[in-house]
Amino acid sequence: MLILGLESSCDETAAALVTGDRQVLAHRLLGQEAAHAPFGGVVPEIAARAHVEALGPLVAAALTDAGVTLAQVDVIAATAGPGLIGGVMVGLVTGKALAHAAGKPLVAVNHLEGHALSPRLADPDLDFPYLLLLVSGGHCQLLLVQGVGRYRRLATTIDDAVGEAFDKTAKLLGLGFPGGPAVERAAALGDPRAVPLPRPLKGAAEPHFSFAGLKSAVARAVGKHSPEDLAASFQAAVVECLLDRTARALAAVPEAATLVVAGGVAANRAVRAALEALATKHGRRFVAPPLWLCTDNAAMIAWAGAERFAAGLTDPLDMPARPRWPLDPSAEAVRGAGV
Ligand code: ATP
Ligand code: MG
Ligand code: FE
Repeated sequence: MLILGLESSCDETAAALVTGDRQVLAHRLLGQEAAHAPFGGVVPEIAARAHVEALGPLVAAALTDAGVTLAQVDVIAATAGPGLIGGVMVGLVTGKALAHAAGKPLVAVNHLEGHALSPRLADPDLDFPYLLLLVSGGHCQLLLVQGVGRYRRLATTIDDAVGEAFDKTAKLLGLGFPGGPAVERAAALGDPRAVPLPRPLKGAAEPHFSFAGLKSAVARAVGKHSPEDLAASFQAAVVECLLDRTARALAAVPEAATLVVAGGVAANRAVRAALEALATKHGRRFVAPPLWLCTDNAAMIAWAGAERFAAGLTDPLDMPARPRWPLDPSAEAVRGAGV
């Protein structure tokens, strides 16, 4: 079983070839940092145009890397949302065209399901159900992953996503874009106790998240402390909030033998180390994908495609792109916040 995966929902264009038995034969990725850096964030129209230019050559390169032809591919998997609509359409339309031309089935993948199942690509022993902390540029959720396509959302953010908080903090500290890795590097040189910052929602009964107040507190402290001390103090506050909220969710799902973290912020070493210690304390196993599989990539989309195809799930060629697409559609909006 050979799956071609395509990803274009934000500012990474990517193509990958993955087998049903977890071999990543090729994974190609082209970031757009330089194009968006002057604007301090992703510009949707620039992103969509860059995906148009990059995706075709990346698919060709991935096929060459893997030493296969399109005819040897069994399934085409493409991100169909959620994300920036222009970019999502580029990847999905490309996937449909390839599926139609090669006469292969299409799997339209929810980008968040790509993140959610990515730990299973890296770890063949990771069984359902597991508690997933999904921490990315657009999301911060705790989900009970019961199976392919079966998610129960336990918590979400009532304002900013956690990756967004890293990016905004980096901007406030003049550390550049994208912010997460820059904040992590600066934090390594600072004192995490230097700046008193709030721990929003720590101790709250429901395991929801909030980061807007933390970002505002960083904004008020800028200029009074070194960027390194601010970055370290911010990161420590984030880690403490993630731990407190995850501990509460763990207690609610005794059936989950494993705590899993995924999404771009899962690449943060302080976040990984703290969660691993939490899992051990609660007698659960801990799984985090390798760093390259945390941030956006197409291998996770190919793998989600493999899992969905194995479950008998394929999609028609008139499948629409979905800019918003919650993993747990039954979960209610929390104070009007994002899905
Ligand atoms: P979503 O998956 O919610 O649609 P996205 O695809 O833009 O959003 P990802 O690529 O999964 O998000 O993650 C990107 C986010 O991860 C960015 O906000 C980035 O700053 C953050 N990030 C990446 N590396 C690190 C790191 N080492 N420490 C903290 N944050 C990080
Ligand atoms: Mg990105
Ligand atoms: Fe993502």
